[in-house]
Amino acid sequence: MERRGFIKSLGAGALAAGSLAVAPQAVAAKAEFKWKMITSWPKNFPVLGTNANYLAKNIEQMSGGRISIKVYGANELVPPFEVFDAVSRGTAQMGHSGAYYWKGKHEATQFFGAIPFGMSGQEVNAWLYYGGGMALWEELYDKFNLVPTATGNTGAQMAGWFRKDINSLADLKGLKMRIPGLGGEVLKRAGGTPVNLSGGELFTSLQSGAIDATEWVGPYNDLAFGFHKVAKNYYYPGWHEPGSTLEAIINKDAFAALPDDLQAIVKQACKSANMDMLAENVAKNNTALDTLVNKHQVQVKRLPDDVLVRLHGLSLEVVQEVADRDPFSRKVYESYTEFSQRASRWTDISEFAYLQARAL
Ligand code: CA
Repeated sequence: MERRGFIKSLGAGALAAGSLAVAPQAVAAKAEFKWKMITSWPKNFPVLGTNANYLAKNIEQMSGGRISIKVYGANELVPPFEVFDAVSRGTAQMGHSGAYYWKGKHEATQFFGAIPFGMSGQEVNAWLYYGGGMALWEELYDKFNLVPTATGNTGAQMAGWFRKDINSLADLKGLKMRIPGLGGEVLKRAGGTPVNLSGGELFTSLQSGAIDATEWVGPYNDLAFGFHKVAKNYYYPGWHEPGSTLEAIINKDAFAALPDDLQAIVKQACKSANMDMLAENVAKNNTALDTLVNKHQVQVKRLPDDVLVRLHGLSLEVVQEVADRDPFSRKVYESYTEFSQRASRWTDISEFAYLQARAL
């Protein structure tokens, strides 16, 4: 039943994304550059897959059809976690994924994906475009024959779905939770057991009790998965992913082969897609949250302060250790943390102060 519901939700996402489908044959026929874009997501997957479609369509339109891009879902051309290598060697000219998947390539990639208790989506974009972050990302990926771009941001995620209440630090002890990356390491140090499962395994694992909790993204994506059918406690805030960046990577040789105007078009289309995803998440999360609460009786709860304080302290430790692994990771860490401290001084008296004032 649930599985059918999930597939049906994906189907609805695919239909909604129909207007963003890849270019018609007529456009591809006259294209000077015929590119492939491989992705780490099921084709047309809400937000992630549809962002890839949006990006491909924009590049085609902005280039007047001189570049055509065929988008491939995960496993259509390569498995989801081989996107980096496949674009690096030129199997495809472009890839759509997340830098946090490439920790095995270089530890520093994590700063371009998700940092627990790190910067918000807006702050991350400020660092990338105006704080030197993009230049460091380019320097890092250059070694892999890749040109990186930010193509989306999830905004603040949710802490996740829990079968039981989290009332204190003691409730994290022995908690089996699907939470990947640095956030998982933090949970481990708080006494929990992080488990890494792919998206497709999450629902049944939570349903059977094989795991006690899972995080995914936010209400819009989570509703499609149907987690509310097997766990009613939906906790916030997403301390582990406060503003995760998605990436569009381009094979360096393919990018170099483009004339200047087309290079600018590709870069600007990525920037547009980056802004678009953040806006889409804000818009769709709030309507999905409404459905979860009012139609499915989901209990939305805030993690207790002492739990957040402990997770924050552990996060600083874990992220600092990434910097200790090699000189380049330290360079990125220092840029990230210095910008983050400066940005938060401004955020505190602008966005944060305003949001508090609005809530009075
Ligand atoms: Ca997540």
